[in-house]
Formats: sequence, structure tokens, C-alpha cells
Amino acid sequence: MTHQISVLLHTPAHSQVAGALTYLSEQALAPGTLVRVPWGKREVLGVVWDEAADASLDASKLRPIAGTLEGIDPLSAAWRQLVGFAAHYYQRSAGEVALAALPPQLRDLDTQQLGRRLKRHAKSASHAADPVTEPIADASSDENAGFALALTPEQLAALATFEQEPGPFLLFGATGSGKTEVYLHAAQQLLARHPAAQVMVMVPEINLTPQLEARFMARFGPLYGEQAVVSMHSGMTPAQRLKSWLAAHSGAARVVLGTRMAVFASMPGLQLIIVDEEHDPSYKQQEGARYSARDLAVYRGRLEGAKVMLGSATPSLESWHHSRPADQGGRYVRLNMPNRVGASTVPDAKSGLLGGLPWVRRVDMNHQPKKCVFSPPLLQAIEERIAKGEQCMIFLNRRGYSPVLHCTDCDWKSQCAHCSAYRVFHKIDRTLRCHHCGFTERVPRACPSCGNVDIAPLGRGTEQLEEHLAELLSAVRRPHSVSAQWPEGEPVRIARIDADTTRLKGELESQLARVHAGEVDVLVGTQMIAKGHDFRRITLVAAINADSALFSSDFRAPERLFSLLMQAAGRAGREAGISAQSEMWVQTMHPSHPLFEALKKHDYPAFATQQLLEREQAGMPPFSFQALVRAEARTQDIAQGFLTGAIQAAAHLPDWEQLAPHLSLFPAVPMSMARVANIERAQMLIESPSRAALQRFLSAWQDVLHATRQKPEGKGLIRWAIDVDPLAI
Ligand code: ADP
Ligand code: ZN
Ligand code: ZN
Repeated sequence: MTHQISVLLHTPAHSQVAGALTYLSEQALAPGTLVRVPWGKREVLGVVWDEAADASLDASKLRPIAGTLEGIDPLSAAWRQLVGFAAHYYQRSAGEVALAALPPQLRDLDTQQLGRRLKRHAKSASHAADPVTEPIADASSDENAGFALALTPEQLAALATFEQEPGPFLLFGATGSGKTEVYLHAAQQLLARHPAAQVMVMVPEINLTPQLEARFMARFGPLYGEQAVVSMHSGMTPAQRLKSWLAAHSGAARVVLGTRMAVFASMPGLQLIIVDEEHDPSYKQQEGARYSARDLAVYRGRLEGAKVMLGSATPSLESWHHSRPADQGGRYVRLNMPNRVGASTVPDAKSGLLGGLPWVRRVDMNHQPKKCVFSPPLLQAIEERIAKGEQCMIFLNRRGYSPVLHCTDCDWKSQCAHCSAYRVFHKIDRTLRCHHCGFTERVPRACPSCGNVDIAPLGRGTEQLEEHLAELLSAVRRPHSVSAQWPEGEPVRIARIDADTTRLKGELESQLARVHAGEVDVLVGTQMIAKGHDFRRITLVAAINADSALFSSDFRAPERLFSLLMQAAGRAGREAGISAQSEMWVQTMHPSHPLFEALKKHDYPAFATQQLLEREQAGMPPFSFQALVRAEARTQDIAQGFLTGAIQAAAHLPDWEQLAPHLSLFPAVPMSMARVANIERAQMLIESPSRAALQRFLSAWQDVLHATRQKPEGKGLIRWAIDVDPLAI
């Protein structure tokens, strides 16, 4: 007997094919089964879906599937529901979300190649000493598991609450308070209790995975075998990704560690999801289905009955708000760990701060020499640190700092010919490069507009900052030099870490290793250096241009700045034995700004309270919900016209009368980066105090957007997309 089945394919985002397609199969196939099906002239991967096949179709026109992927169990109902929810919530097709969530090799390998991979995988899995059911060592014995640490009272309290309550949890722990240790223990308890339990751990960035992987491997490798911990991120080879995915899907992997994509890992035994640095913007996908892996983690936890723990020293204001007391409507359980491990809990007499926290020093730039980049007091502090053999970190908020070429005679600037952005001056190869479209040219000898030969960079990038600092510190010598080469002491060694110096694989690691080894006195860099790395011998951190974020058009900019500065400060001076008080310097024209007041006290709650109050008054998230619709076309008129046309047409939606009072519709405007690679971009913001109303509207409006495209307003439109819960507006 022939069955009709519905199959999801990776249908292009804007094809009219949004739902599942119907195929024929000799056998009945369970939903979740992976199949290969003909699609046009090609054969592609598909997932059998839950929908009933479309009975109205002419069976004689349907095509049979090409085959099933033998040896891979069907994807679970929970996984399918997660995909369905994500597609619905983020306004994409289920096929796109489902297929993007599978490892590329499942799509790309033909049946034969895949068969060989699977056989190899099955073999290596059976060689492992049955890691799933038989712990190699006694998991309940701390000694075997390499636990030398006695947990701190805060860690114990956090874990006790974690045990008792269903969650979700927000682990609000200062940098160095031992959050990772809490994750490890929470995971350990679950894994030991249930032989098939699995734990997912998410980190925001690929370059943070090796550190964490090492810690989880050290803890769980001895217990469950090396195969028990697998990673998932886009830096892995397709073969590695397939291997990890299969291990997670088969249940062989007990711990799956990865970036945001891991939230879609198929894990039949999932019991705990940990989202480390939950505030990090990288958890939001910025193309295709623009999902928030953190938000999906919370949804998935509820769906599968898995506990969810979000962790951060500076939580997102959304999560912080959710973790307010339950009697005020909070839904998350907040676990507090304010103290650094090993630090004295007696406040420092001079600063009033808890032990080990760096002092924050604000330099009022209104009282410093005009146009100085490094204020004299900061420079002096840096010199003093170097003289003592300590390290400094100069942190540059990239915004407003691109080194743009500028002609002082005619005011020409190195505008990109294709974008509404300036091209950035790269001294190293003497090029002007657009960071948005990549357009690169050699630096002109003279101003292209007036011929003036005196053109110079405006503003300073990291590269220039490094150079400028080298000049300022040229007379300073490192202490205790024994080198005959430098009888008067060695010059100061400055290193720069940013996207440019770390483009090559492994570059970041080797540069960080130099810093750790003490081969660098001053580290200059972008936010990249503020994140996630331990700089134990750094005792001075300085933010040079913190102000740009205070007055940004992006309402989340202060939140970002605060979290970056707290992290940067928190990473510094952790080396045991460095007795010097570490410091965080901030140069600002607005020293009494509440953000800096809170920073000075290391008081995230105070900062959050003030910000949330502002957001509430302004009706902004988390007190409202937003969606952005973006449109791209050759001209702004077309892009904006499409959006305006689509919103006007929304008035004909059947439940418009009910929905309209709950929606704020803003006019179509050019995006802040209005033009990229000769394409004009416009956006329109839609806001609602009710998430449900916004969702209902967006679902209904999708069809209108598709239809508008076919109308005169849609002529010349290149594409449009919806971003639900956008991070930047
Ligand atoms: P966080 O993730 O909160 O920044 P970590 O978990 O990395 O903090 O812990 C900071 C440091 O303290 C690590 O070196 C860790 O090994 C150590 N540590 C954590 N918990 C304890 C403990 N209970 N006793 C001693 N050291 C600990
Ligand atoms: Zn460009
Ligand atoms: Zn000029």
C-alpha cells in the first residue's frame, strides 16, 4: 500500500512553499523520520512532518520519496514542536528552521557516503565502554571525579534552591563567584541520578567553547568517557558537526556544549539547559530565522520538562525583570552569588567594596587637555603599573572610533561609494576598506575632491590607539630587565587584539597566550578582549571612550556598555599573589551619570532598577514587545513604499478592529545603515504591550506582506524580513 506523507524541506525563505509537501512512500513513516526526496531535478533532505497529507492533491502527480536515512532514529515530538514554535514565533517557515537545525552533512552527503559515516559512528560508539549507563568511576565519590573544591556557602545555597525548585533559574553571580562550578555540580547531580540524562550548555561565542569544554571534559571525561562531552558550533568541520550531532541524537553524548545553534540539538534525554553569559547579544541569530537561543532555551525547558539555568554577572534587563520576586509577578528564580571565590566578605575600608573588586576611577574629561585621548592621570597610572611589572588593558568601545580619512581643506571623508558608511583606514596595507560591503581601495595620495595632500585619519581605531600609546610610553622602560640588548631596560610591549589581528584561525589564542605569559605590558582592544577571558595579571583596565553608548539611538546601548565594563573589570587582577588593588578607569564627559555611579559601586541591581524605570516610563522592552520589518530595494522610496503599503493593507485583516488598539505602528524609516552594497534598507517598528496580540498580528500580516509584494507597491523590492524581539533598532 502506498502512503501519502508530508515532508518539510529547506524551502527558500520567500518561495510560496511555506508548509510541508506531500510525497508518496511504500511504508508508513513516523513523523520525525529523515528522508531524501526529489525536489525539482535534485534530491534533498527532508523531515517527515506531523501534518496530515493534503488529501485534495491528485495522487497521480505526487512523487515518491527517494529513501529514508537508515540508522537514524526519528526526531522526537518535542524537537518537532520546538521547531514548529520557533518557526511560528519568528515568522519563518518550519522547513527552513528544521533543516537549518540539522548538521550540513546530513543534507550534503549522498545516501552511500552517509551510510559509511553512520557505520563508522556506530562502531566507535560501541567501542566506548557503554558510556551511557555505566559510569567509569563512581560518580557519587567526589574524589574520583576530581573534586578538590569545597563549595562556597553561596554555591551551596544556589545548588540547594536549584534542587528544590523547578526554575527557570537566573544565576546572578559576580565574575569569579564560581558560576561554572555551579553549572558543573548541577550537571553532575543530574547525570549521576539518571543514566540517560543529557545536559546542554550554551556559551555565546566560539572562542569561549575551548575553555569551558576543557573544564567539562576534565570533570565528566573520567566519569563517562571522552565521547560523553561533545561540542557544537560553526567553527567545527562538517564531519565533526555530524559526529557531535549523532552523538547527541543517539543519547551517547551526556553533555552537549555549544553556541546558539546548539539550542536545536536533538537530545532525547535532555534534563538541563545552561545558558552562560545569558545577556550576550550573540544568542540572537542575525539572519534567516532571527531566533534568540536564550529565549528558545526557556521555551524548550518548559516543553521537555528540563530545568533551565541562565547565568550572568550582568543579566539582560529582560531576564532580570523576569526574576523579580514571585509576588511581583516574577517567573524566574533568582540565585544570588555576589562574592568572588576566596575574596574577603568584609568590605574594604577605603572603598567600601567587597574584597577583590577593582576600584572604579572616573576621569572627568571636561577638565583634561582638549582632544587628549589618554588623560594625564590615566597615563601616569599606566606608567606606574608598568613600572611595577603589572599589566594594563585599554578597552575601546568601537563605536564612533572608526579611523575615517578626512581632508581638512574641503571636509572630504572616505565615504563608501556603495553604502551609507565611511570606509575605514587600514594602515597596515594602506587601504580604505568598507566594513559593511567590503569595498576596498588603496589610500589616495591626495584628497580625491580637492587635491590637498594633507589628508589624515579622523578619530582613532585600535590600530591608531596602539600607535599613539606607544609614542606616549616611548620613554617608559620595563623593570628588571636582564637583557644586554636593553641596558636601560626594555621598551614597553603593547599588543592589540581586535577583529583585524585575529582573523586567522588560532591567532586569538596565541595572542592571549602571550598576554597570559606576561610578554605583553599593555593590551589594547575592542570588546573582544572584555569577554570571557581571564586576565589575571592585569591590574588596570581603562575604557577610553565610554560616552558614545550613553547617548546612542539604540536604547540597549547603556545596558551593553555597563555589562562590557563590568566584565572587563571583573576579569582583571584575579591572579593570586597580586596584592595590588586593581582599578577600572573610565574617561567620560559625564562622570555623574547614573551608569557610572552604579559601576563605581559594582552595583548591577541599582543600574538595572534605574534602567528598568526608564524603560517602563518609555514603554520599551521588557514592558512592551517589538517586531521590526525590514525591506530592501534599489531605492528608499521603494523599500519604504512597500512597508507603508503593507501596513495600510493590514487594515483589511479580519480581526484588525480587535488588534489595532493593542498595536503601535511606527512609520517606515531608513535603517541607521541605510545603504549597504548599493541596496537601500528601510524598517518599520511595531510595538505592543501584549506579546500575544503582536504574535497574532504578525501571523495574520505575513500573508499581506506576501501579497503586497505582488502589487505595484512591491515592484522593485528585493526582499523583506521580520525580526521579532529585535536587539538593535
Ligand atoms: P565565574 O564563572 O562565576 O566567573 P568560575 O566558575 O570561573 O567563576 O570560578 C572562578 C575561579 O574560582 C575558578 O578558578 C574556579 O576554579 C574557582 N572556584 C570556583 N569555585 C570554587 C570553590 N568552591 N573553591 C575554590 N575555588 C573555586
Ligand atoms: Zn560599502
Ligand atoms: Zn579635500
